[in-house]
Amino acid sequence: MSVKEQAYAELREKANMLVHGIRITDETAAKTGAGVTVKEGGREGREKPTPANFRTPLGFNVAITANPDSDYAIEYAEGRFLLTKKGHLLYDHLEFERRPQYYARKTTDGKWMKDIVSLVTNGCAAIWYSNECAFKYRDEGCLFCDINCGPGNIFMKTSAQIAESVKAAFDEGVAWRIDFTGGVIPQRREITYYTDAIRAIIEALGRRDLVAAACIAAPRDLAVIEQVKEAGFSIITMNIEIWDKNIFRTFCPGKDRTVGWDNWVKALEFAAKIFGFGQVRCNFVTGFEPQHKTLEGIEYLASIGVIGNANIFHSGEGTPLEGHRCPTPEWNLQLHERAADILRASGVTFAQAANCHPMADALYHDFWRIKDDLLPALRQSA
Ligand code: SF4
Repeated sequence: MSVKEQAYAELREKANMLVHGIRITDETAAKTGAGVTVKEGGREGREKPTPANFRTPLGFNVAITANPDSDYAIEYAEGRFLLTKKGHLLYDHLEFERRPQYYARKTTDGKWMKDIVSLVTNGCAAIWYSNECAFKYRDEGCLFCDINCGPGNIFMKTSAQIAESVKAAFDEGVAWRIDFTGGVIPQRREITYYTDAIRAIIEALGRRDLVAAACIAAPRDLAVIEQVKEAGFSIITMNIEIWDKNIFRTFCPGKDRTVGWDNWVKALEFAAKIFGFGQVRCNFVTGFEPQHKTLEGIEYLASIGVIGNANIFHSGEGTPLEGHRCPTPEWNLQLHERAADILRASGVTFAQAANCHPMADALYHDFWRIKDDLLPALRQSA
């Protein structure tokens, strides 16, 4: 098998694991050192933390979503970790990402820094600033979204906590960029919040030349987009989620009634002019509309320099879509291969896409890496 064939084979396994998850017992999870020496991922209702991710032999990053029914399993044998599929060895000597040291530190006011700033892939310090979304109050939340706010459980991180934790991650050398996300706060207060938080970070780090992304709901008042840029953000994200206008109306009722599909697209067009080519991101969720509609959106956005990214759907507990399934791994692979081809043909470079959307799990990045020989093993074999 050539290196390129092996890369495509690993990508097929990765897509399967992203859709169907991976089995790992609490005992094996504890042996990995997750939450102690190995970076932990989401708990998904489990008692023991599981490792956040591992890399395939050729270097594809695979996020671990625990699923006790998966054909894939992480096992421990004779001092090493294995990945098996239906009981057969797939990859030997799995290695997990080291836990950053700042995860074990607390902010001055006593919060765990890991709860303030998560280290995701590619040196990205991710800040989920609050679990509040005004659309949820009005029963107009996006149907797939499991953001969980309600009386008594709303959290809001302070600018001081964020700046202190980001500085700790930067000082440790594990983070070199920032990504903010969260819901829509009543009266659009998230814009003031972002502005305050980025100012605090700039002050703590003593520099303005940051790669920093702000995820906001598209504003009707386009001046807000300029405000976000002036505050110090270099990338803006406005997630339309669905390109088909009618399906958007059904799946994203708050976004539809508050902003509207046409205004959302206008805001993306405006942002592309203000932030520049390759500096605007727009996420989609896969499987609620025919594949060609999502690709139509990705193609239009690519033509104006906006990076469209299709997230693999996982149904969240308690959401109106609980129990719904994601399209097959093959469907997702096809969508991402086509998305990679669209972006490559549009003049966007891989560096721009990876800068704008720093998530190493993105399958369209992986297709891009294979097609343009960007994986180290492919460069060596070329
Ligand atoms: S806007 Fe939609 S996706 Fe974003 S937090 Fe609110 S409900 Fe969730």
